[in-house]
Amino acid sequence: MNNSNKTRVLILGAGFAGIYTAINLSRRLRKRKDIEITLVDGNRYHLFKPMLHEVATGSVDPTHIIQPIRTVMKGRNFTFVEGVIQGIDLDARKAFICSECACCSKVKEMNIAEFDIPRPPLKRKELDYEYLILALGGMPNFYKIPGVEEFSFPLYSLEDAVRIREHISRAFEIADNIEDIEMRKRLLTFVVAGAGPTGIELITELHDWIYLTLVKTFENIREEEVRIIIVEAGHDILPFSAENIRRAARRTMDEMNIEIMVDSPV
Ligand SMILES: Cc1cc2nc3c(=O)[nH]c(=O)nc-3n(C[C@H](O)[C@H](O)[C@H](O)COP(=O)(O)OP(=O)(O)OC[C@H]3O[C@@H](n4cnc5c(N)ncnc54)[C@H](O)[C@@H]3O)c2cc1C
Repeated sequence: MNNSNKTRVLILGAGFAGIYTAINLSRRLRKRKDIEITLVDGNRYHLFKPMLHEVATGSVDPTHIIQPIRTVMKGRNFTFVEGVIQGIDLDARKAFICSECACCSKVKEMNIAEFDIPRPPLKRKELDYEYLILALGGMPNFYKIPGVEEFSFPLYSLEDAVRIREHISRAFEIADNIEDIEMRKRLLTFVVAGAGPTGIELITELHDWIYLTLVKTFENIREEEVRIIIVEAGHDILPFSAENIRRAARRTMDEMNIEIMVDSPV
């Protein structure tokens, strides 16, 4: 207990795990005035990650897959603190939060540069708690493959999705304006690494964007100049799916002219 005599529940991370914990706890504990629930995230919004492909391939606007946490809070019994969690002292039961140091610059840059969301500087904060819930999600795994982290485009955050979309649009823009055949080939070849559900969803969305929109928009680019390739280390695409689903996916991708390379670790 603390000065306010309330039991403080601190939830770190407002992804699916954190936000639903906050919603459900606040519902179950709505009559308990002695409990205070606080949710913390580096972003002011909850991100619906399953639609990142659509943002990366231009069919959905970034603002359509985020929900401001303040709107989720309405009528619910929890508060929100925006800030990047820098550390936790388990013995002292404190979490340290900030938005002004080097480790926060990525989040700040993303909000301000990409989405033009003004973000007033926050001061460093210490949040005390009696109960701590960690829901900070994961990170992309590059499997220590040389060059992958430096040269590939992960699809894990809104920032990643916007970066992919911008990169592909720019590649078309440049290719449309140059004659060098080798360079055009490079600019118009797209490789997705990993043929699990995310890779397959991304490459098929990419196909639709490229063939239904981009090649029709850029006058100097012909359909046959574009190559879309998916590479997979295992023997088949969608390794965890049933054979009939794998077969149907392969057939559809063949019809779409998507090149499939299996047994091909990056
Ligand atoms: C492209 C893509 C497609 C997917 N499609 C599907 C699908 O179709 N179906 C499905 O079931 N799953 C899908 N997933 C997986 C699903 O999105 C994750 O399993 C889910 O998001 C995990 O939820 P989480 O709350 O654990 O973490 P996250 O959703 O990652 O949330 C973590 C939160 O913590 C915050 N955070 C992290 N570090 C800090 C810090 N230091 N300070 C402050 N805040 C921090 C982040 O901003 C984030 O809001 C997909 C994932 C991706 C990337």
